[in-house]
Amino acid sequence: MTEPRPSTQGEATGTRDPRREIPAVERLLGSEPFAPLLRRAPRRLLLRAVHAVQEDLRKALALPGRPAVPLGDFEWYAARVEEELEALQRGSLRPVINATGVVLHTNLGRAPLAPAARAAVERVAGGYTNLEYDLDAGERGSRYVHCVGLLSELTGAEDALVVNNNAAAVVLALNTLAEGKEAVISRGELIEIGGSFRIPDIMAKSGARMVEVGTTNKTHRVDYELAVGPATGAIMKVHRSNFRMTGFTSDVPLAELVRLGRERGVPVLNDLGSGLLLDLTEIGLPGEPTAQAALEAGADVVTMSGDKLLGGPQAGIVLGRADLLARMRKNPLCRALRVDKLTLAALEATLALYRDPDAARREVPVLRSLALTPAEIGRRAAPLAERLRAAGMDAELAPGMSAAGGGAFPDAELPTTLLLVRPRARSANEAEARLRAAEPPIIARIVEDRIALDLRTVFPEEEEALLAAVRHAAE
Ligand SMILES: *Cc1c(COP(=O)(O)O)cnc(C)c1O
Repeated sequence: MTEPRPSTQGEATGTRDPRREIPAVERLLGSEPFAPLLRRAPRRLLLRAVHAVQEDLRKALALPGRPAVPLGDFEWYAARVEEELEALQRGSLRPVINATGVVLHTNLGRAPLAPAARAAVERVAGGYTNLEYDLDAGERGSRYVHCVGLLSELTGAEDALVVNNNAAAVVLALNTLAEGKEAVISRGELIEIGGSFRIPDIMAKSGARMVEVGTTNKTHRVDYELAVGPATGAIMKVHRSNFRMTGFTSDVPLAELVRLGRERGVPVLNDLGSGLLLDLTEIGLPGEPTAQAALEAGADVVTMSGDKLLGGPQAGIVLGRADLLARMRKNPLCRALRVDKLTLAALEATLALYRDPDAARREVPVLRSLALTPAEIGRRAAPLAERLRAAGMDAELAPGMSAAGGGAFPDAELPTTLLLVRPRARSANEAEARLRAAEPPIIARIVEDRIALDLRTVFPEEEEALLAAVRHAAE
């Protein structure tokens, strides 16, 4: 909010409480400067804005060393109310520019969608769809048929099921396979992914009794052998997606667990976390398992996210044995975790890109961002640094590191080129706050008292807005 303009009016009123001079709502609304606002906004919203401005003013006037404010200036009130209205009318969920270099930033909504996915959402959003309608039979169909063909084609899975997110997929799978039974898991895989997703808690809520085997650093096949019995509903393997264990460690490969599961007639559930469909070794990101590899190793059920490395919308994807997935579809929980048409549209279009791996690498924003080299990023950052310097600012390029984020490739080296800007008359913290207050807000890092901008996650069409905001923030 802007500072009240100074005025002499306060002084003229002597000892009277200036708060009583704030004009009444009706006088404000009836005044000339408020006429455009009355035309622009619903009356109730306008009233909220006026009340907020009056309230702020009352508080400011109650403080010692009260500010001189133009209590009779209706133009001033109209300008303040207009700002307040803009804040009220601005949506809560807003686009931001991600200059952090964290590609899958959960706080920033994870994966940006490919153009094809955005177009698909647009196509189905405004009208009716065959979401649950069988066009051939002319009767009720199932929302769970969409994406199944594509997912099977791309991963080799016998069957597929899409739900709200991967946490939902894990809950549904565990509840279906192991409710009231035991689920056997290595102590090395009792992980936490972000604030509220912890494997032991999720297992408890899904109704499975967790049976921990092995130790934090080592689990052997014999540990599982001793634990798996008639009460076992599932053997669970969770990908340690957001950290690595090194040193004196060992765990049992998925294929080995599958052999044990087959011997004992117990299904093996593999939570992959990220849903990688392409091996990213060639762009320098080895070690993240693909869905295809997990299925080839024989996992009965594989779960993964739609909006991590897959680069699609928030969704949980369950792949695996048709008989087990049929039970999941019949589970009443599935209804509570179901996916909507916008998600299915975006997911289907994203998956379709993977039919041509080059198209996926070219068009899925997450894959494209991950593949950018420091030289490519530097070529985009250099002219921006040049323009900032031409405006008299302290800006330079320096090598730095980006991150995959979203609990993927925790130890990946993702070298980048940072654009470092030293604010002129304020601290880096203040400048960073001003960047966040920009429209659109810019999310940036601070490195050694400078604003650090990583263009890995900034789209070329966002560069002008970024530059304008940086100039304003660092001036
Ligand atoms: C991210 C992740 C989850 C949760 O997935 P959401 O799609 O965020 O619900 C579960 N398990 C693993 C291993 C993960 O990495």
